[in-house]
Parts: sequence; structure tokens; C-alpha cells
Amino acid sequence: MTLPATYGQAALRGMRCRCPRCGEGLLFRKWLKPLDRCPACMLDLTPQRADDFPAYIAMIVTGHLMAPVIIMLSKDFAMGVLGMFAIVVPLAVVMMLAMLQPAKGAVIATQWWFGMHGFVKERLPAAEAGPAAKPGEAGQE
Ligand SMILES: [Zn+2]
Repeated sequence: MTLPATYGQAALRGMRCRCPRCGEGLLFRKWLKPLDRCPACMLDLTPQRADDFPAYIAMIVTGHLMAPVIIMLSKDFAMGVLGMFAIVVPLAVVMMLAMLQPAKGAVIATQWWFGMHGFVKERLPAAEAGPAAKPGEAGQE
């Protein structure tokens, strides 16, 4: 098991629906139901409190991606309301549904990384994780 070196690595593991701590065990038992424990490193996942935040992320991202599409369809293709609905609504629904699980994984990874809601904050030892100590800082003990 290797702890993530950075927050980005932990978040990426979450987005791939893997345990943010080890990157090996699966995060979910069903679509949006997290497991109680990581099957690989036994991390207790019950402190996660993703709540509605993954849905907000999915809506904000989908909205920002769909806005140019809607503008393009109405301006460049002069598409009517019905045609627009036939394209935009299914596309938006699919995008949001596809984004929910990775967003929830990233939210859980964020909560774990920052030690929120009872997660224990874990970091690689400083020598492995951070950049090398600046000259002048070493040997001051
Ligand atoms: Zn794990």
C-alpha cells in the first residue's frame, strides 16, 4: 500500500472510484453506495459525508459544458426549441449521471485527505513526500 504523495493523487484515485489511501481497493459497493471499509487497506470509509456535493459538482460542470453547445445549436444551426430539447436534455442527463460516481469518489478522497468528519489524516513521511529541504534549513539542530 502506498499513501498518495499529493492531494491531486488522492483525488484522482477517488475519481477512478478507488480508495484514496491505497489506490487499490474499490470505493463503492453499488453505484453511489460506498463500502464501509476499503477491501485492500481496511480504511474505514464510514466517516465520509459526501451528501449532495457530488450532485452539485455534476450540475455545475454539466452546465458549463452544455452552455456553449446550446449557444452553438441556437446560433449556428438555428435549431428550434423541440430539436434543441431532443439533443440537450438527453446529453445533459447522461453527462450528469456519468459524472456522479467520479465526483463522489473525489469528494470522499478530499474528505479523507483533509481528515474531515473523523477520517485520520495520513501523509507520507516528509522525506518521501515533499520537495527536498531548502539549503540552509538542514543541519540547524
Ligand atoms: Zn484502501
